[in-house]
Amino acid sequence: MVSRRRFIQIMGKGAALAAAGIGLLRLPAKASSEESGSTIRVYSVKEGGYVTMDKVNRSKEEWRNILTPDQFYVLREQGTERAFTGELHDNKKPGTYVCAGCGLDLFSSEHKYDSGTGWPSFWQPIAPENIGTEADWSLFMRRTEVHCARCGGHQGHVFEDGPPPTGLRYCINSVSLRFVAGEPGGKKG
Ligand SMILES: [Zn+2]
Repeated sequence: MVSRRRFIQIMGKGAALAAAGIGLLRLPAKASSEESGSTIRVYSVKEGGYVTMDKVNRSKEEWRNILTPDQFYVLREQGTERAFTGELHDNKKPGTYVCAGCGLDLFSSEHKYDSGTGWPSFWQPIAPENIGTEADWSLFMRRTEVHCARCGGHQGHVFEDGPPPTGLRYCINSVSLRFVAGEPGGKKG
């Protein structure tokens, strides 16, 4: 049997642990606000190599003010533009496709191909570090979501029915990209 005195001690300990728990729970929030100044290492076409860049962390409201409604819908709300409507779908000029949200180099004209799907398609990104992926279980199937590594802006999905040499198809929204004409570049090898 637990004596009344012992019981109070246990309760007291529990309360102290609960208080400590609240303290601990506050820590991640503090750490993430400090992380807003954190950096990432990504490939830059202009520099021809890896550079360190600040991450871009904005609130939904800030993005709403910066982006067009279509850009906001795709980049920040994981939307998808209608097939064959994108400005860059048929673009065959040499250059770099950068994130419409933050300007990070994401895809190269050298890796673009016509997949017949109605969205700009690439068989690889500029460099693996420039994009992030996440499992997406919406639409009752498992897809792999693709986003910008710098600002987290949604770009599209990657599928395993692409052409050689990777066999991958990065199916990307035109509206989440901005095209910069010029010498195409990307991580070599
Ligand atoms: Zn971005």
